[in-house]
Amino acid sequence: MDFTNMSLEQFQCQYSTEDACAKYVFHIKWPNGFICPRCEHRHAYLTKTRRLPLYECSHCRHQSSITAGTVMEGSRTELRKWLLSIFLVSREEQGINAVELSRIIQVTYKTAWLILFKIRQVIQKADQNIRLTGSVRVNSAVYGRPFNPSVHKHPKEHLLLIGSSLNEHGVDQYLKIKLVIPENPRDRHISRSVSLAFTNQHIAPHTNNIESVTRFYSPKRTRPLMIFAHQASKWINETFHGLGARHLQMYLDEFSFRMNMTIKNTQIFPRLALLCFSSPISCCTYFTRLAS
Ligand SMILES: [Zn+2]
Repeated sequence: MDFTNMSLEQFQCQYSTEDACAKYVFHIKWPNGFICPRCEHRHAYLTKTRRLPLYECSHCRHQSSITAGTVMEGSRTELRKWLLSIFLVSREEQGINAVELSRIIQVTYKTAWLILFKIRQVIQKADQNIRLTGSVRVNSAVYGRPFNPSVHKHPKEHLLLIGSSLNEHGVDQYLKIKLVIPENPRDRHISRSVSLAFTNQHIAPHTNNIESVTRFYSPKRTRPLMIFAHQASKWINETFHGLGARHLQMYLDEFSFRMNMTIKNTQIFPRLALLCFSSPISCCTYFTRLAS
């Protein structure tokens, strides 16, 4: 199904009931039919007395639901609203803020914020399992206050390092945009040790081909990375009306996730739904495959 070109109305029509949504999630969780998470037996008895179906393994009696151990565990919000939220986060270059989401799915602002927070946690966790490999280039960038001519960092400026894995044709394959904390909070300067910490955390060990430009105003900074950083800032400012440092990293990761899916020509919604509703182990496997 083509989710990329699907309108909000079409999605709402297709997934209007808990049953239709449960079927979709069952399919992404167990694409080859039910497998007991405890004993791997392939047959279960279905109980439909609850809001969402419950599967009881006919071998070991272990009970599993489609939402156990997922972003939805413990949530009283309907599956339909969760799936719609994932769809709205998946819209290319758009995403959604909590005010808009609460209006569309008819929940309180607090619930909408929490749903988005949990989806972003899934995205962040998936990215933490990936290191940049092959030919890697890293550039400095700034979020906030784009026209500050001083060498001193404005309190509302946040320094970023943006890294990318390139393929053999020099085209960006996987991006990471990370907030860095300078040693001197007043300087717009990324020190060697801050740059080294980025390398250790985000680039695979034994990567030899790393081109890193951490000075600002250097002509050596590469244009595609500057454009990505600019697009991330623009999206954050337009969708969330600016952000402080506290949650900035989560939003940068959300932006990078959509960008990475687009680079790979992968539909965003099914991938994000898979991450949200599959076990953490399969998320890691999937993402490792994606980065290579
Ligand atoms: Zn079992």
